Amino acid sequence: MRKQLWCAIFLGCNLSDKVLEIFKAAGAIKEGHFLLASGLHSPVYWEKFRILQHPHLTEKLCCLIARHFEGQKIDVVAGPTTGGIILAFETARQLGVRGIFAEKEGGVRVFRRDFEIVRGENILIVDDILTTGSSLKETINAVDKLGGIIVGIGVLVDRSEENLNFNLPFFSCLRAPTTVYSPQECPLCAAHIPLVKPGAPS
Ligand SMILES: [Zn+2]
Repeated sequence: MRKQLWCAIFLGCNLSDKVLEIFKAAGAIKEGHFLLASGLHSPVYWEKFRILQHPHLTEKLCCLIARHFEGQKIDVVAGPTTGGIILAFETARQLGVRGIFAEKEGGVRVFRRDFEIVRGENILIVDDILTTGSSLKETINAVDKLGGIIVGIGVLVDRSEENLNFNLPFFSCLRAPTTVYSPQECPLCAAHIPLVKPGAPS
């Protein structure tokens, strides 16, 4: 029997407010002119590693994801590099299952490092900040290729401009849509504000 998951700090408060408070307190919400991994520009950047460097904060947020999906049979939690490595590990730890990650190899996201998905296993996909959904789509494809059955997607923050429809059960700890610009139409570029490329290339 799985032990019941419990996120005591979220009891009796508005979930979105509490999650936003955690991100703000950790200094994760940056303002400026940022180049996102998707290639789009944004006046706001959420630096997930301001959160992920703190195991106790990561634990609390993963608890929300784990608790949302705990009624499902889950065999494996999978996430895309880099933040997804930590999130998959911690969510899997709480659910008592395996945690694996998919990384880029020759432009395609795959499971390397002898990670296995047995055909028919139930997979929960997790990720940090959702903007265009490209990392998630790539991870979905990687799971599909191995014959895993995706039972849901859980993310820390859904920043997508419009609700992306993955045709899968979806949960975000926080919905916080933010404006993004294509480089050609970016008013911050037009104003000659220096462009910052945060984080790692993957
Ligand atoms: Zn720009």
